[in-house]
Amino acid sequence: MNGIDSGFDRSHIWHPYTSITNPLPVYAVKGARGVYIELEDGRKLIDGMSSWWAAVHGYNHPELNRAVREQLESMSHVMFGGLTHEPAVTLARQLVALVPRPLDRVFFSDSGSVSVEVALKMALQYWEARGNHRKKRMLTVRSGYHGDTFGAMSVCDPDTGMHRLFRGFLPEQYFAEAPRCGFHDTWSEAYIEDMRRNIESHADDLAAVIIEPVVQGAGGMRFYSPHYLQRLRELCDRYGVLLIFDEIATGFGRTGKLFALEHAGVVPDILCVGKALTGGYMTLAATLATAQVAETVCSGDPGVFMHGPTFMANPLACAVAGASIRLLLDSGWQEAVCRIERQLESGLESCRANAGVADVRVLGAIGVVELQRPVDMGSIQRMFVERGVWVRPFGRLVYLMPPFIISPAELDILTSAVCDVVRECSAEAVDLFPPEM
Ligand SMILES: *Cc1c(COP(=O)(O)O)cnc(C)c1O
Repeated sequence: MNGIDSGFDRSHIWHPYTSITNPLPVYAVKGARGVYIELEDGRKLIDGMSSWWAAVHGYNHPELNRAVREQLESMSHVMFGGLTHEPAVTLARQLVALVPRPLDRVFFSDSGSVSVEVALKMALQYWEARGNHRKKRMLTVRSGYHGDTFGAMSVCDPDTGMHRLFRGFLPEQYFAEAPRCGFHDTWSEAYIEDMRRNIESHADDLAAVIIEPVVQGAGGMRFYSPHYLQRLRELCDRYGVLLIFDEIATGFGRTGKLFALEHAGVVPDILCVGKALTGGYMTLAATLATAQVAETVCSGDPGVFMHGPTFMANPLACAVAGASIRLLLDSGWQEAVCRIERQLESGLESCRANAGVADVRVLGAIGVVELQRPVDMGSIQRMFVERGVWVRPFGRLVYLMPPFIISPAELDILTSAVCDVVRECSAEAVDLFPPEM
């Protein structure tokens, strides 16, 4: 058949968080190259989303294409049980070299959510192995997002997450207030007090604290002070609780550091990476643990870590991840992210003047315009497409996280589109904001 059958799509295929009976419009894509997503009707959109934090090098990159093609010629997949291969070993070596010591034991999985499940299981098996059978709960902060599988969902924000919907099945965890100290705010101990109280009072049954370092992504696009993480590390050590960092969104340069934990100089016991790991080419994630955690996990009954996905360490995904990391390190990413940060700051500044805008904030290659009220996704999406850009807001948040290869002129088009659309939204608030959300 010629063309994309969007009628079939509309009646048979679920998209993320959509209704099958009342779907939102979707745009048919026929290709993507560099920072452009090309629609079937020939329109080209500048990508402001990097396909959800992932496509840091843009699309259809010759070097990444070559890595996949070459790997395909030798093998696309073999099981990882009892077998190993060069793409997995090379990638693990790269990851271990990039993250701070002593995070040097690697577990590969297929998606970010699964890497979070793996991290939670490691924490539980760790305490079991140490003969402590009470430490079964997790503590996290509100406004977090860690994925859509059950363990991951249980540590997402309890109000905006899916806790009510799945109550009775979802494990119940502890929640401290979201970090309230902005990235640049002067630190005060009051900012960690609720977290401290939680750790202290639940130390007996707490296995781990899990948190997105510095940037809370899909739970609200909030940035907070690195001091928070330094104090959190001290508290976890003092009360005997493991610390898990979820860098699935922040890893690989997005916040201006290769990993957001570098803003704080704090090393967790377990670290999750995903999203930009393969440069947005394939689905792959990894959970890294310290030798101490990994060895303890394997010292208890049954003497092994109990997880093993069918497509673990898929060679195509590992090969493209390896190539993506090499490309990133050779690309001068830090200057690119710095330039994007400065341009997002100046380009989004004029949004502040709009009555409907609650806040404008930028960190690294992340620019956020927080509105007073939620937007209507369908209509705002159309306004962006009409302006030749791909920006997908959620709730009250209109945000940009472009590929690092974006040129100043292309980024200018993105920030101008955001300012225009936000201005129109403020002017026509009645049309664009759905009532009572
Ligand atoms: C996207 C994301 C996840 C989930 O990753 P998936 O690949 O969608 O399963 C987990 N944590 C954070 C911080 C994320 O941004």
